[in-house]
Amino acid sequence: MRTARLVRARSLTPGVRELTFDPGPGHSFVPGQWVNLFDAAGDKRSYSIASAPRADGTFDLAVTHVLHGPMSTLLHALPIGAELRMADAQGFFVMDPVVRPVLMVATGTGLAPFRAMLQHLVSTPPTVPIWLIAGHRTQADLLYRDELEALPLRTFRYWPTLSRGGPTWRGSKGWVQAHVPPALAALGTDVDVYVCGLTHMVHAVRDLCRRELGVPRKQVHAEKYD
Ligand SMILES: Cc1cc2nc3c(=O)[nH]c(=O)nc-3n(C[C@H](O)[C@H](O)[C@H](O)COP(=O)(O)OP(=O)(O)OC[C@H]3O[C@@H](n4cnc5c(N)ncnc54)[C@H](O)[C@@H]3O)c2cc1C
Repeated sequence: MRTARLVRARSLTPGVRELTFDPGPGHSFVPGQWVNLFDAAGDKRSYSIASAPRADGTFDLAVTHVLHGPMSTLLHALPIGAELRMADAQGFFVMDPVVRPVLMVATGTGLAPFRAMLQHLVSTPPTVPIWLIAGHRTQADLLYRDELEALPLRTFRYWPTLSRGGPTWRGSKGWVQAHVPPALAALGTDVDVYVCGLTHMVHAVRDLCRRELGVPRKQVHAEKYD
């Protein structure tokens, strides 16, 4: 157990706040892992680290405000300099060696571990395609859009889709599930699929890939937030 201090914060979208914590010396993690944060009563919640490891040890979280949710409400109001108890990073939702095309599928802040993985890949750019289907409600909810569009990875494709895309939205519409079959038609089914978000979507994409599209079972990796 350690203490993490909030050193920076910014609003990413109307419902998502990015918080940058300094966990103190000796903390390490692999992109894709998450940390447990504790409130004053000792209740804990998990948050995926949304940045690749940095020399100064700080890391970003991207937190959705859940209505009446105690921890996300606390994190959205947390002042700079505040300290929280934190357990070291853990979890198995990390990238296998990149030996085949990769399809990442996220909804909402399910994007967080993929931002960490993608930032990390920039230092050792793969030659195979790395595609990210990112589902959000509206254009205002698009998370890290500018950053993802500018990501310096030659083989990367950012594929946002909006479930409530308005008339000015020229990109894909609908749920992420709808875009997985065309993505795999292009990438082939010998891919590594990583899917992260709420259970309903994670199960739908996982089952679609394994049962209907023929992706080998062990090449479909999933992380659920609820
Ligand atoms: C491994 C892991 C990693 C996680 N990483 C993140 C993360 O990076 N960012 C993040 O915002 N949350 C993340 N979560 C969810 C987080 O742990 C909390 O569940 C969430 O912040 C709600 O906590 P709360 O105390 O505010 O609300 P609670 O009263 O505990 O409400 C929980 C309910 O909120 C809903 N919920 C949980 N997470 C989300 C979400 N992201 N978007 C919409 N609804 C949600 C679910 O229906 C869940 O049942 C992660 C969960 C797990 C298990």
